Parts: sequence; C-alpha cells; structure tokens
Amino acid sequence: MEIAVLGGGFTGLTAAYYLAKKGHAVTLFEKEKVLGGLAVGFKQPNWDWYLERAYHHLLDSEDDILNFAKDVGFDEIFFRETITSSLYDVSSHPELVSGSGFNGIPDQVRDGFQKVKMEADYRIFPLDSPQDFLRFPLLSWPEKIRAGMVLAFLKTSPFLSLYEKLTAEEFLKKTQGKHVWEVLWQELFRKKFGKYAENILASFIWARITKRAKKLGYIKGGFQTLINYVENRVKGLGVRVKKDFTVDHLGKSREGFVINNKEKFDVVISTLPTVIMSKITQTIFPTDYLQRFSKLKYLHAVVLILETKQPILEKTYWLNICSAKIPIMIIAQHTNFIDKKYYAGNHIAYVGWYVDRDDPMLKMNKKETIEFASPHLKKINSEFLILNSELFIGPFAQPIYDRDFLKNKPDFITPVKNFYIANLDMTYPYDRGTNYAVKLGKEVSKLI
Ligand SMILES: Cc1cc2nc3c(=O)[nH]c(=O)nc-3n(C[C@H](O)[C@H](O)[C@H](O)COP(=O)(O)OP(=O)(O)OC[C@H]3O[C@@H](n4cnc5c(N)ncnc54)[C@H](O)[C@@H]3O)c2cc1C
Repeated sequence: MEIAVLGGGFTGLTAAYYLAKKGHAVTLFEKEKVLGGLAVGFKQPNWDWYLERAYHHLLDSEDDILNFAKDVGFDEIFFRETITSSLYDVSSHPELVSGSGFNGIPDQVRDGFQKVKMEADYRIFPLDSPQDFLRFPLLSWPEKIRAGMVLAFLKTSPFLSLYEKLTAEEFLKKTQGKHVWEVLWQELFRKKFGKYAENILASFIWARITKRAKKLGYIKGGFQTLINYVENRVKGLGVRVKKDFTVDHLGKSREGFVINNKEKFDVVISTLPTVIMSKITQTIFPTDYLQRFSKLKYLHAVVLILETKQPILEKTYWLNICSAKIPIMIIAQHTNFIDKKYYAGNHIAYVGWYVDRDDPMLKMNKKETIEFASPHLKKINSEFLILNSELFIGPFAQPIYDRDFLKNKPDFITPVKNFYIANLDMTYPYDRGTNYAVKLGKEVSKLI
C-alpha cells in the first residue's frame, strides 16, 4: 500500500519505521528542513552534541521509547540523578523571613542551592525526595504528612474515573487541603496552563505523579542523534523522506487521497497538530467532525536558550518558579544535567513559558525576549553573562486537558476510511512526550 505519513516528529518517524518494516511503500512529509518536530535539535559549530530547541529529558518509567530504541538498534540512552527545586518569594511567605520560621532549619535548606548571587527576597528549595519534602519549611508537619500520603496514593493507584470528574484544583484542595494547594500547586498550574489552570482535570496530576522519577534520561549526542539515526534507518527501509515540504491541501480521489493536488496515496496518517490537520482536510471530513476540534484549546511554548560562561543555577537542573513576582515558568539548567564539555565548556540554560495565542510574548523577537527575561533572571543570579542565545516557539505544544478536551479529542480512527490521526492530543492523560509519540506511532502502524 502507498502510505503518506504527515509530519516528521517522533510519531511520524516511528509510524514510518514500523510500516516500512511491514513492507508498505511509505512517504514521510515534513515542512521543516530537519526532522524532529518539537524535539528537534541544533548544534553550534564548536559543540560536540546537539541541543534540543526545547528542554528534553526522559523518565526511567518510559518504556516505549526505550523499546523503540532497541528495535531500531540504538543503545545510546543513559540516566542520571538530577535536582529539581522550587523558587519562592519571601513577601508571599513571611514565614521565610530569617528569625521567624527559620529556627532549626539547616543552612543548606534555608539558602537552597543558590547561595551567593540571589536577591535576598527569594529562596530556592530542593523538592524531589521525601527528605526534601520533610525539610520544606512552608508547610506544617500535619500538612506534609497528609500531602505525602496523597502523593503516595496517586503514585500507586491505577487510573480512577474520579480523576475525570474533578479538576486538579478541586481534587488537591479536597485531599491535601487549601493551604497545600496554594503553596505547592497553584502557581505551577497558573504558569503551565495560564487562564485555563482552574479547569485542568485531576487526571493530569495523577499521570504526572505516577510517572515521576528521580533519574532522568538523555540521549548521547542529544535527541537529534536518535532522530537522525531513525531517519537513516527508515530511508534504508525504502521510506521516501520529503523534507521542506508543507502539506497544505488534502483531497480525496476515488481510490484514495491526493496531497497538494499532486501525489496520490491509499492511506494517510496525520501526526500534525489537530489545528493544522483540520485546516488542510476541509474537503474530506464532514463539517461536524472538524467542528468538535475547534473546542480544543492549546498553549504555545516559548523557550529561550541562553549559553553563558557561568551557570544561572548552581546545582539545580529544573527550577519551578513558584513566585507570581517572576513571570517565568521554569528554568532548566541543562548543564547541571549534561556535562558542559559537550557545549564548548559553556553553560546552557533554558527559560520556558507557555502562552496563549494572543500573548505579546509570541510577537517578541529574541532580543526583546531576553530584555523581558533578564531583570527577572538577575534576581536569581546577578552575575551571568550571555554568550549566545536562541529563541524557539513550539506551536500548539500544550493541549489543555479540560472537560472539552475529554469530549472532543481526536482518535486514531476518523470518519474517512484509511485516514488516521496520531498526534500529541492523544497522549492523554499523560503530558505529551517523545515516549508517547513513539507509542502512538507504533500503535497507529498496527491498524494498517
Ligand atoms: C517545551 C517543551 C518541552 C518538552 N519536554 C519534553 C521532555 O522533556 N521529554 C519528552 O519526551 N518530550 C518533551 N516534549 C514533548 C515532545 O517534544 C513531543 O511530545 C514530541 O516531540 C511530539 O512528537 P510528534 O511527532 O507527535 O509531534 P511534532 O514533534 O509536533 O511533529 C509534527 C511535525 O509535523 C510537522 N508539520 C506541521 N505542519 C506541517 C505541514 N503542513 N506539512 C508538513 N509537516 C508539517 C512539524 O514541523 C513537526 O515536525 C516537550 C515539548 C515542548 C514543547
């Protein structure tokens, strides 16, 4: 069968691989010059490894991508422990002022890991082990015990239908209490989901906690190394890879499908964002089918990469900014995870946001984004010097898992025979990730 796979990210590449293995004639269409989609990487001339345009790591529970790597003969994935921390501001938490709530708290906790160059108004707390949690000064002992029990329950419980009946806020307030919600979760949800934060289903928090891991995985050479490796493997299996090719129209012929009024196929698999897929399939899908997708909401990822001489964060890899005074969602100090020697000895930090389509950040160029972020970054480290920078926008990168999403998300099977969808909306309840992209690509290939 002649099969067109639309999109050359992890889902499309995986589908192309398994379909070509089955003997189908596969063509992969990708609008960019390089495959990889949201996981795409780039390399400065003096770097040895690729770097993802958006921070990427794996979790040790993510078997699908590990198994896929084995299937294609790639064994360059490794895991290591990292430090996740959270930043709080003193003005919102008066108990953080020295002398009031600090009595008896060990120094390394009081000062977090950012000892010297941070404004006195802020504190960083490591928060990724039970010990860290017990030392966390913003919750009382009864609150910590109760919150810890709920987290342990979520970690071990199977998926419950209850998680789709309550929002995460309702669930966490009910089970952990209002104060714990305010301290641990509220700002994280607001930063990740913006104005949709209060509608996010509890299933999202279940999936996050179930999958949480202390050890994070990475790919030797960067994720792009695996992407390039799979590209070569699929080409070796006869897949035609058409890069720099935007699919802007899909039509139906008597026997199958026509791409851009030219190329004919028996089967189409779309891994494109649902919004884009809906635009190019207006003539083949019934209107009511496409209308349901108009109810899905997304945020766009904005990621600023800073290459610096000194690290912005001293030890932490992943810093959640739990302060409304700093309009940044996360900072990921990549070189506290992966050795800086692969990036010419310089430090790499990602600064990340998720924004709505009308957010002014989407209109900012790199220089404006740096100007916007810098005063806030200086509060955390006053002494960093930017050598190079990159700005990346990931369109439709964060689906909003609310009740509308549950009712309207796409499925593999569509009303048009031989047209399949496999895209990041279908990783629910798990947050999108390369592991799930690979899983979707493999599963959709089994339907053909
Ligand atoms: C900020 C951020 C952080 C992330 N962190 C992690 C992480 O730590 N770990 C992890 O595993 N995952 C992470 N992810 C998620 C991961 O990158 C994605 O889940 C995965 O790459 C999705 O793959 P995909 O193939 O389904 O979609 P995509 O990668 O979006 O692929 C779709 C492809 O379709 C192409 N395309 C679009 N329109 C057209 C068109 N008209 N014609 C032809 N081609 C078209 C696009 O260019 C793209 O290459 C992160 C994502 C973001 C945005």
